[in-house]
Amino acid sequence: MLAQDFLQRIFRPAVLGLSAYKVADASNLIKLDAMENPYHWPDSVIDAWLATMRNCELNRYPDPEAQKLSAVIRSTNSIPETSGVLLGNGSDEIIQLLLMALPQNSVVLAPEPGFVMYKQVAVSLELNFLGVPLLPHSFELDLPKMLEVIRLHQPSLIFLAYPNNPTGNLFDADAIKAIIQAAPGMVIIDEAYAPFADSSYMSVVSDYPNVLVMRTVSKLGLAGLRLGYIVGHATLINELNKLRLPYNINILTQASAHFALTHPDIFAQQILNIREQRSLLLAALNALEGITAYPSAANFILFRTPANQATRVFENIKQHGVLIKNLAHAGGLLQDCLRVTIGTAAENTQFLHALKHSL
Ligand SMILES: *Cc1c(COP(=O)(O)O)cnc(C)c1O
Repeated sequence: MLAQDFLQRIFRPAVLGLSAYKVADASNLIKLDAMENPYHWPDSVIDAWLATMRNCELNRYPDPEAQKLSAVIRSTNSIPETSGVLLGNGSDEIIQLLLMALPQNSVVLAPEPGFVMYKQVAVSLELNFLGVPLLPHSFELDLPKMLEVIRLHQPSLIFLAYPNNPTGNLFDADAIKAIIQAAPGMVIIDEAYAPFADSSYMSVVSDYPNVLVMRTVSKLGLAGLRLGYIVGHATLINELNKLRLPYNINILTQASAHFALTHPDIFAQQILNIREQRSLLLAALNALEGITAYPSAANFILFRTPANQATRVFENIKQHGVLIKNLAHAGGLLQDCLRVTIGTAAENTQFLHALKHSL
């Protein structure tokens, strides 16, 4: 038996107080819970990809700078030439790296509800995480409140997801600009859903030295590879690069992502389909009595059930074979809310059928 005081002696209280990030078991269920692209590749593309895998020397360490992949990421993302780029094992790793760089007792600010890893990692590192609630209904930034918290607490880092997860909206541009100008530290614009949105801050990184734009290939359709990247002032990227473990992007990820990003036609039609399905699903959800669905610039839709029904509806939908995400237990603005990832046309039809029979 491990004595409790043993744990308390060897681990920081912040670690003991955490809960591990839980991922629901999706076996035998239609998986619409994790913002994955539902489409895999045609056989001919898989064959071409497997041919490139032949050249991977698994006995060797990967290129620590992932130079070939970085070059493709630069060109496919229109990254300003003078900006720095850092690659991470998913953007989750970059979030961890950013926060590891901050001084002790730093304040980290993000609107809430937002992406859960911002708070999870900040708390694990014993940083002071401050969440400012979004405005009800519109899920817009509460600009006066954000500016007040910035003035009072001088956050070292501010996260703004654009579009936001789990609400799906793009925050107002003037509000973001005011926050960037008031921020005493770094502002991270998290563009995890860039493939599904029509607006981006990538070109803005050259205008503001404190703005960094973070993206990932996960939602595009390569969640299994674990690859994210962050773009910003070369001097900031250099500092962050000191904390990066040397071989964080493995050789299979480097080669596979390089292959995929040099074959952009793989994703073009998939993204179009997902965006088309998004409008159809939004309309179908809002046509259901008792359901309010919110417009989304991402590959998911947040919707509200009748009061205190969300968990029951979620469980019923699961009984019908479809896994979505229950956000009701988060409380606050997410009370009565569920989130569904846009799937294939057939999956979305099954989800709607399940929902109708679950209300
Ligand atoms: C999914 C998501 C991420 C994490 O992406 P990975 O690259 O898969 O780690 C980051 N930010 C937001 C807002 C997300 O929704």
